[in-house]
Parts: sequence; structure tokens; C-alpha cells
Amino acid sequence: MSLFEQTLQQMETAANLMGLTDDARRILEHPEKILQVSIPVRMDDGSIRVFEGYRVQHSTIRGPAKGGIRYANQVDLDEVKALAAWMTIKCAVVGIPLGGGKGGVKVTAKDLSQAELERLTRGYIKAIAPIIGPKKDVPAPDMYTNPQIMAWAADEFSQLQGENTLGVVTGKPLAVGGSIGRDSATAQGSIYVFEKYLATTGLKVKTAVVQGFGNAGSFLAQFLVEKGITVLGVSDSNGGIYNEKGVDVAQVKEVKTQSGSVQNYTDALKVSNEDLLAMPCDVLFLAAKENEVRHDNAESIKAKLIVELANGPTTIEADRILASKKINVIPDILANAGGVVVSYFELVQNEANFYWSKDEVQTRLKEIMETALDGVFEAQQRCNNLTKDSEDTACENVTLRQAAFMCALEKIEAAMRFRGKI
Ligand code: NAD
Repeated sequence: MSLFEQTLQQMETAANLMGLTDDARRILEHPEKILQVSIPVRMDDGSIRVFEGYRVQHSTIRGPAKGGIRYANQVDLDEVKALAAWMTIKCAVVGIPLGGGKGGVKVTAKDLSQAELERLTRGYIKAIAPIIGPKKDVPAPDMYTNPQIMAWAADEFSQLQGENTLGVVTGKPLAVGGSIGRDSATAQGSIYVFEKYLATTGLKVKTAVVQGFGNAGSFLAQFLVEKGITVLGVSDSNGGIYNEKGVDVAQVKEVKTQSGSVQNYTDALKVSNEDLLAMPCDVLFLAAKENEVRHDNAESIKAKLIVELANGPTTIEADRILASKKINVIPDILANAGGVVVSYFELVQNEANFYWSKDEVQTRLKEIMETALDGVFEAQQRCNNLTKDSEDTACENVTLRQAAFMCALEKIEAAMRFRGKI
């Protein structure tokens, strides 16, 4: 099943549970706009290479499209459509007035020099300029894109407009209109949700494993240590490390920066990515990429709780297995929404040309994330109560993912109705 089909299936399950109208379903099954571009780039050796890029706007019914740009070799239209649709849902789950979009360029970013990356970024932005802008569609960083790339993007778009238009992208450096706290926002947001989840359910957690040690995963591991949780293992694309007494996260970060892989950290067992998922721990954080927990490895997971910082890390079959093992999953569309929430703050600050303190960013982020989790728990409860009072068992054991989709779809459907689209 393709990633986009998987997204539609997740939507369909929740749509059935909440009784979403057929009209709304039909609209959401199709992205509003798809732009495919070819980007010719002069390479450092004088040759021209042409890269394939996409920008997909899944829905703008609740506001301008919002979603990252990914520079990765596996990028294709199906992946970008799926990620754009998740952004529509994610923005609605946390209640920020934005829609869903996503972009991607098929490239192995680490094979390009800085100058080539800059030319690629300027070329991509020029190609998608007609459909982006602070009131239309606002890209941000995603896998293998970063604040420097966003600064080039904002500069290129501003040159094309003939005026400073910094709010065209978010995730910029502080020196050019970035927001305090954007770099760690995804991890910070997931911590707020995670702590609220523990407070609400009474689950006790002492140890964690973190899959993926990039932007999201490395900030997360540091925050966990600050919260007194022992990080037993982490991994990157080369493999994982695990020590039942815990790893020194600051040192792992140092080793990763110096040598390129967490596997060069010496005070731990080297394990494969696959094995790391099965190691004993209380909570497993998934912060690498999509489809990492599947039907063939979900059974071996021993954690009591999974928190998804990556987008789409758990397949639909794996979700069923985890539910049958009573392992709760705080889903991506809620757990990793901190990034898009602070991106929204950045857009608001750019448009007002007035910047907030760290305290203001964190207080507002915490409130939004906690309120979103409350809403998801309420939707879950509402659905479970329905089952108690009826013969219909469809609502039995609604997962947090299904409940989060239900919350989002209710808001999206309301916007469609008020705007006269359905
Ligand atoms: P990143 O490129 O900085 O980090 C990804 C990390 O995962 C790297 O350490 C990489 O080596 C590792 N990795 C790749 N394949 C792996 C595997 N099979 N097993 C273990 N590790 C593996 O990317 P990021 O920005 O941290 O994003 C990670 C995930 O979080 C992506 O799915 C992204 O879409 C999602 N996400 C990120 C943000 C954000 O603000 N950075 C926001 C929302 C969602």
C-alpha cells in the first residue's frame, strides 16, 4: 500500500467512526494542488544537473497550506501527497489556523556542496514561487533541510517579490526572522504532550529508547535527561547503541557531531536498528522516518508506550498489532505538532514584525499541545461511551490516532460547511 493510500485509510477509519459526510471525504481524498517542477542546477564542476521537485497543497480550507520541504533521494509524489495530507490533519488537531502542504526534492543532500545546495534551493523556490507566500503556502524545514536553506529560500522569494517577505518560509535562523525555540520545538512539543499523557493516565516511566538522532531525536533525548528519564539507547541510519544502565546523551551527541554516527559511542552495546526497537524500555520514541514499525517487527516491541516524532513511522498493520498488545501510541499528528505550532508562531511574528521571548513561545506551545491532547482524550472517551450504550462495537477501543483524526476531521468539516464548500 502506498503511503498516500495508508494516509487515506487512516482518515477513512476515523471518518467512519465520526460519521464524516461523503462530500467532505471526497474533497479530502484529493490534494487541492500539485506542482511538479524540474530544477536545472549548475554544479561546481560546470555541468548541469536537473532535479525533480514537488509542492503539494492538500487543503487550505482552514488557512494557508503549511508543511516542510524534504531533500531526500526517496522523495516521490506519493510521499509528498501523504505528508501534505498529514499536515492538514495535524494543524487541525492542534487547532492552528493553517492547512496542509508539503514539498520535496529528489536529491541526496549530503552529496552536494553548500554552493550547489544554495543554487538548488533558489531554483526550487523560483519554480514554486507562484503558489507559495505567507497567505498561500508556507514551507519549512524537514528531513535534510535546515535554517540556512530556509534563509536562502526567504531571500530568493523576497528578491522575486521586490520586498522583504520573510514569512514565506519558517524555520529560519534567528538573524533573519526566525522564532526563538523553533529548532527544538518538535521535541519540546512532544515532551509537553508526553508529560500530560503521563499525568492523565498515571503511567510511570523511567527509561526510554529513541530511534533517530537528528534534529527531533537529539533534542528529545536531551529533554528526557533533563526530566530525569534514563535514555537506554538511541540510533541513526548506521545503527543503534544500547546500555541497560543508560547512555550519556551529551556525549553521544558529541560523538555523532565529531564522527557522523552514534555507533562510535563506546560505552554501550552496538545493536542493529531492528534490534534496538525490541530492547527493553518503558517508552519508545520514534524520531527517524516513516514505516519503521511494521507487521514484521511490531510484535517484538517491549515498551509500554510509543511516541511518534517522525511522520508515519507506524504502518496500519503494526498499529493493529500494537493495539492488540495494549501498547498505546501517541500519534505523529499530535506528538510532533510542536514544530508546526512554533512555525505558526514564526509566521505570526514575521507578519507583525514583532518578536516574542522564549517564555512566551514556550508558554503558548505548552498550552496548545496540552489542550490538543485533552481534545483527543475527550474524542476517544466520547466514542467509547457510545459503544457502552449501543450494540454497535465500532467505537470499542478507539486508539489515540483514530481519536486525533476524528478531532481534526470535525474541525475541517466545520470549516468546509461554513465556507459553503459542502
Ligand atoms: P533529521 O534528518 O535531522 O534526522 C533523522 C535521523 O534519523 C537521522 O539521525 C538519521 O540518521 C536517522 N535515521 C534514518 N533512518 C533511520 C533508521 N532506519 N533507523 C534509525 N535512525 C534512522 O530529521 P528530523 O528533522 O529529525 O526528522 C525526523 C522525523 O521527524 C521525520 O519523519 C520528520 O518528517 C519528522 N518531523 C520533524 C520535524 C522537525 O521539526 N524537525 C517536525 C515534525 C516531524
